[in-house]
Parts: sequence; C-alpha cells; structure tokens
Amino acid sequence: MITPILPTYNRVDLVFERGEGAWLFTKDGQRYLDFTAGIAVNVLGHAHPHLVAALTEQAGKLWHLSNIFRIEGGERLAARLVEATFADTMFFTNSGAEALECAIKMARKYHSVSGHPERYRIVTFEGAFHGRTLATIAAGGNPKYLEGFGPAMPGFDQVPFGDLEAVKAAIGPETGAILIEPVQGEGGVRTAPWAFLRALRQLCDEKGLLLILDEVQCGVGRTGKFFAHEWAGITPDIMAVAKGIGGGFPVGACLATEEAAKGMTAGTHGSTYGGNPLAMSVANAVLDVVLADGFLDGVLAASTRLRQRLAELKDRHPAVIAEVRGEGLLIGLRTVVPNTDLIAAMREEHMLAPAASENVVRLLPPLTIGEAEIDAAFDRLDAACTKLEQGLKADAVKGAAA
Ligand SMILES: *Cc1c(COP(=O)(O)O)cnc(C)c1O
Repeated sequence: MITPILPTYNRVDLVFERGEGAWLFTKDGQRYLDFTAGIAVNVLGHAHPHLVAALTEQAGKLWHLSNIFRIEGGERLAARLVEATFADTMFFTNSGAEALECAIKMARKYHSVSGHPERYRIVTFEGAFHGRTLATIAAGGNPKYLEGFGPAMPGFDQVPFGDLEAVKAAIGPETGAILIEPVQGEGGVRTAPWAFLRALRQLCDEKGLLLILDEVQCGVGRTGKFFAHEWAGITPDIMAVAKGIGGGFPVGACLATEEAAKGMTAGTHGSTYGGNPLAMSVANAVLDVVLADGFLDGVLAASTRLRQRLAELKDRHPAVIAEVRGEGLLIGLRTVVPNTDLIAAMREEHMLAPAASENVVRLLPPLTIGEAEIDAAFDRLDAACTKLEQGLKADAVKGAAA
C-alpha cells in the first residue's frame, strides 16, 4: 500500500526532534553529528540563535504579503546582495530550481528583446544538477531524472565538464548562454578548473553569450568565498542561489546584471511566495552572520583543519578512501568501497552525510563547525572505516577458504 507521503525518497529510518549547531537529536535523546546540513542548507547549523530570533520576531509581525506590495525586507536583502556581488538586480524564489527557471527564462528573454529570439539554446555540462522541474531536469540531462516524463524540454546541449573544445563545438547560431556549477555538488563534488571558468567567461564575451552560474550548492560561503566564482576572478551575467541563503528557510534568488535582466519587465515573471517577509527576515539574518568580518576566514580555517584530518584518514584507510576533493566545506570523499557502505557505517557511528555521483560521500558541515566537532567527525569516520576494513578482511578470508 502506498504511504501517505509519495514514496519518491528512500528515507533513513530516523526521526529527529531537534537540532543544535552541528548536532541532531532523536526523540529518545540520541545524538548525531550532522554533516548533511539539509544538503548544504543549514549554513549556520541548527537553531542558530540569531536566525531563531529573526524568524520569531518577524512571525509576530507579518508573515506574507503579495509581491504587488513593496516588501521592505526584500528590498534590504536585494540591496545587500547587490553591494556584495556582481549583481545589479534579482528575483526572489522559494527554491533552487525556481531560481534556475528564472535564470533560463531571463537568458531567453534577453536574446529575444535583443532581436535574436532564435538564440534560446543553453550549453550545459555532464554531471550537472539544476533541480527537478521539467526545465531543470532537461538542463541537468541526467537520464534517470528524465525517464518517463515525456519529451525533454528542448534547448539544452550537454558537453563534458571542463572540456573547452566541446563547448566551442556545441555553440551554434541558436546558442544564447552557458550554464555551469562552479563546483558540481550532486555530480560528485567536482570543481570546474578556475582557468576553465575564465575561458568560459571569455568565450561568452566573444560570442555574445550569457554566462549563467548555478551557485545553489556552492554559494553563500560554502567554499570559503561568498560565492565560488570569486576564486576564479570572474563574474557571471546571471546566477542562481538558494540552499544556504535561507539557512533552512526556503529561499532562492536569481541575481543578474542590469544588461542581462533587461527583458524582465513588469508582468514577465512572478511568484506568489517568492521574497515574502518571513523568508526575507531569515535571509537577512543569514547575511548578518556570513558577511560579518572574519566569518569566511573561519570557514577556510575549519576547512584546512578538516582536510588535514581527512588526509590522515585517507592514509590510514586506503582500502576505504580513494580521494579527498572539493573546496572549502564542500568536501567529497571518493570511496573504494560503495559510497553507501561508508554512509551506513558512519550512521552506525552516529554521523550523517549524503552521497553524490562518482561513488562520493559528501561532507557538508555547517559553516560554523568548530574544532571539537571536526575532531569528533574524524573519530567517527575513523571508526566507520576501521569497521569496513574488518569486514573486507573477513570477506577476503572467506574468499580464500572457498
Ligand atoms: C539543490 C540544487 C538545485 C535545486 O534546488 P532545489 O531547492 O532543490 O530546487 C539546483 N542546483 C544545484 C547546484 C543544487 O545543488
């Protein structure tokens, strides 16, 4: 019999009642170290006092207003993001996929109002993940996510990640934009070489294309810069943001330059909930912390410490861990054993982390992670790897005996 909730997830059989920082607590008081962070969402951990205060204060005043009225919190958030990024303007959404939908529509509209409605195609990359709407599954191109949902939305040309010649070959008279994650999250924590991002920027400038970045997972401090593209020293024309910007409240945004946004005039796009006062109060509170002096230095320091310990872990357990990759606190452990085996063994040690493609376990701690928690993570990972190795040895003995 079908469950009351549509069974589209294979859920872990754990029920959490509350969270605090990097920890989650079950009803019976068991404590888990949370390196999932809602998939890179809870950038300030669970129940951060500043976010709780912002949310509860706003909840007593005003939750929701239609976008047919001015929303002060949104005006403030947008002004702060304009100040802190390449963007001149933005549209607020409730999710990453909606931010990407806005980005795709904006790119098409830009060329349409520039006299080139035929330039609607977008070059995308293998291993990409842009969301689960019809347009974003077409952009992501993952056959597993497209299967059975009818013809894929036209307009996306996918090439291998990092392959500049393939990008050039894919560009034709109908191409209008290039869409890429600076660091692929779901795709296995794969960093686009910064030189490749710079080459894409140059190519876009030469050919009159828009560069669209999907920083839904790698943005908002996750890599140790406010946005990951800053490492490459480039700026996009359009950028999709979500996950971390709301710290756990559903918020997304599509940021753009004035030029790229020139077709998005009154009536061309909309959202009932996007940018409502409750969401804006929390996102502003996230920025209070993430943009404060020294916060990103703290992310880099935590990253350095965690990665040192992970290098040690890899040396101790070469039969389990093949590679440590990623940027900042967007880290991937490529495993020798199936990644799901390590995730299950970690869970037995009360540590939680999500999988990614290429047999990778993602480590996505809150950006506020401290030294004690990093050491706790090492101990739990070390115990999980040790158990897996004992299992591998036992299997080898059985194999030799047979
Ligand atoms: C999670 C994610 C999305 C989709 O965000 P939703 O909020 O689930 O719609 C898009 N792009 C990237 C890179 C993501 O990690």
